Amino acid sequence: MAPKRAAVDTEPGTSGKAPAKPTPKRKKPSPPKAPKCGCRGDCRSSKCGCGKKGEACGDACKCIGCRNPFKILKEFNIDCVEAAQDKCLMDNIFKIEDLRGRLEQSHELQCCETSVQVLFPGVVTCPDDDCGCEWQYSWCSNDFVDEENRPRNHCGICRHCGDYRDAHCERCNKCYFAGLSGFECPCKDRPPKPKGGMGSLGLMLWAMQHFAGDDSDRLSDESEDEGFF
Ligand SMILES: [Zn+2]
Ligand SMILES: [Zn+2]
Ligand SMILES: [Zn+2]
Ligand SMILES: [Zn+2]
Ligand SMILES: [Zn+2]
Ligand SMILES: [Zn+2]
Ligand SMILES: [Zn+2]
Repeated sequence: MAPKRAAVDTEPGTSGKAPAKPTPKRKKPSPPKAPKCGCRGDCRSSKCGCGKKGEACGDACKCIGCRNPFKILKEFNIDCVEAAQDKCLMDNIFKIEDLRGRLEQSHELQCCETSVQVLFPGVVTCPDDDCGCEWQYSWCSNDFVDEENRPRNHCGICRHCGDYRDAHCERCNKCYFAGLSGFECPCKDRPPKPKGGMGSLGLMLWAMQHFAGDDSDRLSDESEDEGFF
């Protein structure tokens, strides 16, 4: 005699049944926060909260005639999150009049005269099989730069692409040509620029060092340039 119970237990369909009701989940797979900015205008400026974060505007935004540039990137299926990490893009994106045009434009790579679009973001490898040169688009110069030999060098402080041998000087807060060996900024020989609140003090100290012992009457001659000594 087969025990009835066993038969019941193994009845097909009783186990692994789809739940009638979705059990209330404690943890939702938290969806990415919907973008939202406080703009009442067209989001064309870098003050737009969405654009600042590298997001296209969403339903929660109250903007009118939105021209958030990330909306355009999205139309081009560009990864906005990745794009927003590119300082060169971020420092330019709100200034570019015709972003669509930029993205559609073709550029001839200097290595093989092959044309590429602003495939973005990141480094583009020349499509020529035998070449493989790497190029990176500079939004500042609107051109591709040779990433291997003369890598793009965007300064996030000056907000501009400079020569690949340029370096930013903390002291004068400017980029200067540092060469491949990385020599010091020529500003070390010049009086420090007033910067923040300490500027005038720094300048005074510098003047004291350089003109110490100098008769202040003699300073009023015409050579007010750097021709001291
Ligand atoms: Zn906005
Ligand atoms: Zn928005
Ligand atoms: Zn908007
Ligand atoms: Zn090539
Ligand atoms: Zn740049
Ligand atoms: Zn300097
Ligand atoms: Zn700089």
